[in-house]
Amino acid sequence: MNSNEIDIHKELKKYFGFNQFKGLQEQVIKAILAKENTFVIMPTGGGKSLCYQLPALVQGGTAIVVSPLIALMKNQVDAIRSLSSENGIAHVLNSSLTKTEITQVKKDITSGLTKLLYVAPESLTKEEYVNFLQNVPISFVAIDEAHCISEWGHDFRPEYRNLKNIIKLLGDVPVIGLTATATPKVQEDILKNLEMSDATTFKASFNRPNLFYEVRTKTKNIESDIIRFIKQHKGKSGIIYCLSRKKVEAIAEVLQVNGISAVPYHAGLDAKTRAKHQDMFLMEDVDVVVATIAFGMGIDKPDVRFVIHHDIPKSLESYYQETGRGGRDGGEGHCLAYYSYKDVEKLEKFMSGKPVAEQEIGFALLQEVVAYAETSISRRKFLLHYFGEEFDSETGDGADMDDNVRNPKTKVEAQKQVVT
Ligand code: ADP
Ligand code: MG
Repeated sequence: MNSNEIDIHKELKKYFGFNQFKGLQEQVIKAILAKENTFVIMPTGGGKSLCYQLPALVQGGTAIVVSPLIALMKNQVDAIRSLSSENGIAHVLNSSLTKTEITQVKKDITSGLTKLLYVAPESLTKEEYVNFLQNVPISFVAIDEAHCISEWGHDFRPEYRNLKNIIKLLGDVPVIGLTATATPKVQEDILKNLEMSDATTFKASFNRPNLFYEVRTKTKNIESDIIRFIKQHKGKSGIIYCLSRKKVEAIAEVLQVNGISAVPYHAGLDAKTRAKHQDMFLMEDVDVVVATIAFGMGIDKPDVRFVIHHDIPKSLESYYQETGRGGRDGGEGHCLAYYSYKDVEKLEKFMSGKPVAEQEIGFALLQEVVAYAETSISRRKFLLHYFGEEFDSETGDGADMDDNVRNPKTKVEAQKQVVT
């Protein structure tokens, strides 16, 4: 089928039930249908999946989708299957499948039924699968969460670095990279590693105009400060991120004692408790979840009204992702970070046990967090600049939504804050 003949608006309605494309989706889909190598940078929630799902569904051949998390792949496959009467339209290929299941997957691909094949990067290295995939028509390879390629990203996966070599074995297939990581450094790494400097690049704005950014100096009164803040947001949903499990437990307890409904969430709790606490938060049986960064992947609660960082995050990238869980519905999301230089030193100490190259990257990323915390310019401008985006702090969307813009610091105050 010629890509010009496809009415993508009709297909959008038919498969997904949507009347309109979101953001840059339409342009991206046209590039993919024109068989171009394509690079898509959109914030979380921007609608990246549809950018490759729709072209896969309307083309001949099978699209391979590389994704790092089995749970995410399963979700997507279930979602696609629910759009069609054919179960075989989407499959996951991974180590958990039985022989019989693998045979079925291969049969569906060979017969042309399967439009989307989700694979984990480590499965794609298996010779048996590569041999099979070499002999079936592949429409394109989409690499979701492509920042996993880069050591400068927040989720480096060594297996991702080998993907290009395997894709080459599949012949001349277009490659689509997708990520919500907007730092120029990570983007460069992705394009270089996937050998697609020729890629047509689509980058959406990372500005979240409804998020309010604030940094407070961390003092020994932090607990009462947090309690006061939460009581000012009575009955609203919020997340508090802490660095350690111990701190998570301690803060959750302090909040409970002070009459705030809060639960802890961290990887040290058993799976059942974690699931229960997550559900309680989603169902609004509790207002606040106090968590390590283990909490949040795939959490899509639209009305999170505040995200507090009890301890500073390890990079601005993480900060953006974590605060990005606030205000998904477009309503206010207050992002409050507590900062003390002691915490920076603590993080540096954590890193000192790591390999030198990793340490250097870690320190450099942390310095950016320090600069953000200490800046007296618009925090939104600072964050967006970090993502390679210009922002006009007078007229831009959300320009007055941060502490520095609302209450400009005098020089003396700014210096005082740096010293503490
Ligand atoms: P990302 O991968 O960029 O984080 P997703 O692909 O998970 O984002 O999509 C986020 C949400 O946006 C999903 O709930 C999806 O159904 C919705 N969505 C995507 N495209 C559209 C559209 N054109 N119209 C309405 N909703 C959309
Ligand atoms: Mg996604």
